[in-house]
Amino acid sequence: MEKRYILDFIFPRYCCICGEFLVTHDFKYLCATCSQKVVLTGAHICEKCGHDFGEISEIAPPCCPRCLRSEFQFISLRSAVRLNRITRYLIHQLKYRNGEYLAEDFAKIMQKNIPFMALLKDGILVPVPLHWKRIFKREYNQSEIIAKSLQKLSVNMKVLPLLKRTRHTPPQVGLRTQERHENVKDAFNINLKIKIDRDCKLIVFDDVFTTGSTINACCKELRKHGFHNIYAATFTQTSRN
Ligand SMILES: [Zn+2]
Ligand SMILES: [Zn+2]
Repeated sequence: MEKRYILDFIFPRYCCICGEFLVTHDFKYLCATCSQKVVLTGAHICEKCGHDFGEISEIAPPCCPRCLRSEFQFISLRSAVRLNRITRYLIHQLKYRNGEYLAEDFAKIMQKNIPFMALLKDGILVPVPLHWKRIFKREYNQSEIIAKSLQKLSVNMKVLPLLKRTRHTPPQVGLRTQERHENVKDAFNINLKIKIDRDCKLIVFDDVFTTGSTINACCKELRKHGFHNIYAATFTQTSRN
């Protein structure tokens, strides 16, 4: 009997959403029914930030309102899945319910989005760092553990903790765009001990893209130190514009 089936017998697995007992191995903690409710981002997206215009738009406009208002410092950003009830729940489990065990399933979901994975190809994923106080509380950085799971599944990318958070900032949730911007301004520092080529492709990596303040602050710090080939990627993004 295969090892994984023996493990299933000793440590039964259940879907983290509906609680169904799992016998398949597509995902570790997601049943077939729930995983089908995870919707990958579509073809009609904003060229710059990856905002999903949905199915109705036959010809996608080149730019979304969020990008018209903001000066994003990345070349382009892509998100793997749409934000819906299921993906919102997964993010919540990952961040606030000791959801470290879900990292591999996050990576497997993202891997299904081929254009998304194309953006990551040959890149260096730079997880948005957390301050040590928050890591102390949560015990892990959710962006970093998903990035590392992606790295395990794909040979053509690596993860490098190139940024550090210099100060503890309150959570961005509930803040307005301008407040979010002020909250994370100068909150990141590059780790100068890591020596890499300034021309290499960097991908600032986070779980959710909202107004872009956090990712932008990361990109600014990287640009300040001579990097210019900077992209961004997230698991999902809000439709807030
Ligand atoms: Zn389920
Ligand atoms: Zn956009």
